Parts: sequence; C-alpha cells; structure tokens
Amino acid sequence: MATRFFFDAPRRPKPKAGPNIKSLLVRCPSTSKLTDTGKTIEEKLWQTATLKTQKFTCAHCGSVHTWTKEDVILGRPTSVSR
Ligand SMILES: [Zn+2]
Repeated sequence: MATRFFFDAPRRPKPKAGPNIKSLLVRCPSTSKLTDTGKTIEEKLWQTATLKTQKFTCAHCGSVHTWTKEDVILGRPTSVSR
C-alpha cells in the first residue's frame, strides 16, 4: 500500500529580486506629518551613506525645512510608476 502525503511541499524562501529601494521621509516639525522628500535610496546603502543638510518644500505646511540624515525615516516608495 502506497503511503500518501497530504502535506504541502516545503516553501522555498523567495530570492529577493532587485534592490530594496526605500523612500526618504522626514517628519514636518509644524504638522508632525511625514513628508516624502522625493529621494530614494537602496536600503543597504543607507547605513553607510553620508548626507549634507538638505532642504525641501513641505507639502503639509508649505514652508522650507532643512533635514539631515538623522531626521530621515525610511519608508516604502509611495508610487513606483508615475
Ligand atoms: Zn512642514
């Protein structure tokens, strides 16, 4: 009598395809909302990346904020295809 297995085949972890791109988000000091700076970076490179002080025009309060690497929160890119 043949033994039958009803188990699922073991899942193989998917190999990661392509770089893990993160968007750079900065919290607005006026509204405390996260704002997309429009910049992206590969997650692997972020830890070793060096950044000068950057400026961007805030979408929430309309003023220009300066930010450095310490202010950045890595997030998923909001839109891949535009
Ligand atoms: Zn702002």
